Amino acid sequence: MASATLDPWHGIPREEIPWLPAVDARACIGCELCYVTCGRGVYVMTDRKAVAAHPYACMVGCSTCAMVCPTDAIRFPDRDLVRRVEREHKILQVVKEEARTKRGKQGAARARAAAEETLGRLTCRTRMEIAGSFGDKPFLRQLQDLIADHPVDLVNLDLQVPTVKGSAEKAPAFMRFEVASTGQEDIQAFLPMLRDLARRNGFVLVNETKL
Ligand code: SF4
Ligand code: SF4
Repeated sequence: MASATLDPWHGIPREEIPWLPAVDARACIGCELCYVTCGRGVYVMTDRKAVAAHPYACMVGCSTCAMVCPTDAIRFPDRDLVRRVEREHKILQVVKEEARTKRGKQGAARARAAAEETLGRLTCRTRMEIAGSFGDKPFLRQLQDLIADHPVDLVNLDLQVPTVKGSAEKAPAFMRFEVASTGQEDIQAFLPMLRDLARRNGFVLVNETKL
């Protein structure tokens, strides 16, 4: 059996605890309920009978398969066996430590989830697509001036001019770029300035997508 399923039980080697299912093959009707129910891979079905092929993979104290077996074909030792093991090995100190670790992990997971949620609410990157005549307008220089004082940069800038002659004749061109925070900060307050600059240059904001 893979070692992952043979982890010690609260510090006690699993092989030292005889909490093991036993199937009465005569009573088993091969319904496969135990096989499907057990999440630890204890059972295999052989000749339409359940066989506890990996009994030490069974979770100590669990008896779910016995509970659901329609013919009562699965037996476990008496529950006192588990209590005795708990007492003899004084596992409660180990359990306290395990509980502390679990709480720590849960706390870290909650903090991570909260941080991710906060980050998800922020707009750190936005794609903008604008159209207009870029020919004789100092738009790019104005863009440079605008971002100089803010923690943002423009990336993946792409200017599509239909034709060189068209450009000279001020035919509409198309510019796409992404506004990215340089410090994983919210850029929502910055975007209106960008829209305003585009508008003052006579451009049309074709699309704005939060990334
Ligand atoms: S649940 Fe019971 S009857 Fe069904 S396969 Fe398992 S042991 Fe057999
Ligand atoms: S008692 Fe639980 S863990 Fe053990 S074999 Fe049955 S279902 Fe699987």
